[in-house]
Amino acid sequence: MEDIAGKTFDVVVVGSGPAGLTAALYAARADLKPLVFEGPEPGGQLMQTTDVENYPGYPEGVLGPKMMQDFREQAERFGADCRYGMVTDIDFGSRPYKLTIDEENELFAKAIIVSTGASAKWLGLESEQRMRGKGVSACATCDGAFFRDQHVVVVGGGDTAMEEATFLTKFASKVTVLHRRQELRASKALQTRAFNDEKIEFLWDTELQEVLGEQVVDGVKVINNETGDVTTLEDVTGVFIAIGHKPNTDLFKEVLTTDEVGYIVTKGKSTETDLEGIFACGDAMDPTYRQAVTAAGTGCRAALDAERFLAEEEVKKAVAAE
Ligand code: NAP
Repeated sequence: MEDIAGKTFDVVVVGSGPAGLTAALYAARADLKPLVFEGPEPGGQLMQTTDVENYPGYPEGVLGPKMMQDFREQAERFGADCRYGMVTDIDFGSRPYKLTIDEENELFAKAIIVSTGASAKWLGLESEQRMRGKGVSACATCDGAFFRDQHVVVVGGGDTAMEEATFLTKFASKVTVLHRRQELRASKALQTRAFNDEKIEFLWDTELQEVLGEQVVDGVKVINNETGDVTTLEDVTGVFIAIGHKPNTDLFKEVLTTDEVGYIVTKGKSTETDLEGIFACGDAMDPTYRQAVTAAGTGCRAALDAERFLAEEEVKKAVAAE
C-alpha cells in the first residue's frame, strides 16, 4: 500500500462485484488508471454462487467465482489496479476526496465510484450457513433451476419472498413459504398471485429451526412459534432465504441521499449522487433488478459519467487559468 499512499488518483472504485469491475474496465480503457478496492468480499455476491446460467455470453454457464476472476483479469488487462483493502473512511468535505484504506493509509480521488453491493440478510442459523451453496440460497433467480420437480421452502413474508416463491414454481414441484407471522408484508398484488398459485403453500407463525443434511439439503425442521411444535419437512431439498437485502452503504448514508432501506439514490438516468464526483452503481443503488448483468450495466454508466465529469473539470480548470 506504501506505493499508493498519499497519491491522487483520477478514479477510485470501491467494491469489486460486476458493477465495480465493469466500471474499472471502462475507466481503464479511458486511460484513467482506476484503483479498485475490493472490499471485504472480493468479487461480491457471485463468489457465493455456483453456476451462473443467466449471464449473456456464457452458453454453457460459468461458475460465479470464475466469472468474477474473468471480470477482474479483463479490467487489469487495461490497467486497472485491483487491490485487497477496505475503504474505511472518506473525507467528503473537500476535493479531491481523501480516502482512508484499512484504517491506516490515506490517498486522494478526484472521482469515486461506489459499487459496494448489497448483502442478502441471513437468519444466522449454524446449519443455514453451513449449507449455503449446498441447497441453501438467497437467490431464486440464480439457483432456482437446480430444483426441478423438487420441494423447496422460502423463508419470509415480503415482496422478495413472494417473488422468489412464484419464480420457483417454474421449476419446483412444491414451494412452501415459511412466515413468522399470520400476515404477509408483501404488496397485495404479489400476495394474490402467490395465494392463487396451487404449487405454493403457506405455513404461518412458522420459523426455520434447522436445515438438515451434510452435502445436500435433506429436509428442514420448522417450529410453530405459537404452539412450540417442531415438525420436520423431510422431502425438502432447497431452502431460499428471502428476508431482504441490505445495501453496503453505511460509509455513505450520512452524506448521500439513500432510500429508507439504504440504497443510494442517483440522479435521473445517471449514476450521479448528491456529491460532485461521486457515482454509484450496482446493488448499492439498485433495489429492483439486482442481477449481475444489470449491475455491470450500471458500472459501465458510472465509469462513463466519471470520465465525463473529469473531462469537464479539466475544461473548468483551463478556463479559470486563462
Ligand atoms: P421486507 O419487505 O423487509 O420483508 C422481509 C420479510 O422477511 C418480512 O416478511 C419479515 O417478516 C421477514 N423477516 C425478516 N427478518 C426475519 C427473520 N429473522 N426471520 C424470519 N423472517 C424474517 O424485504 P423484501 O421483501 O426484500 O423487500 C424489500 C423492499 O424491496 C420492499 O420495499 C419491497 O416492497 C421492495 N421489493 C419490491 C418488489 C416488487 O415490487 N416487485 C420486489 C422485491 C422487493 P415480518 O413481516 O414479520 O417483519
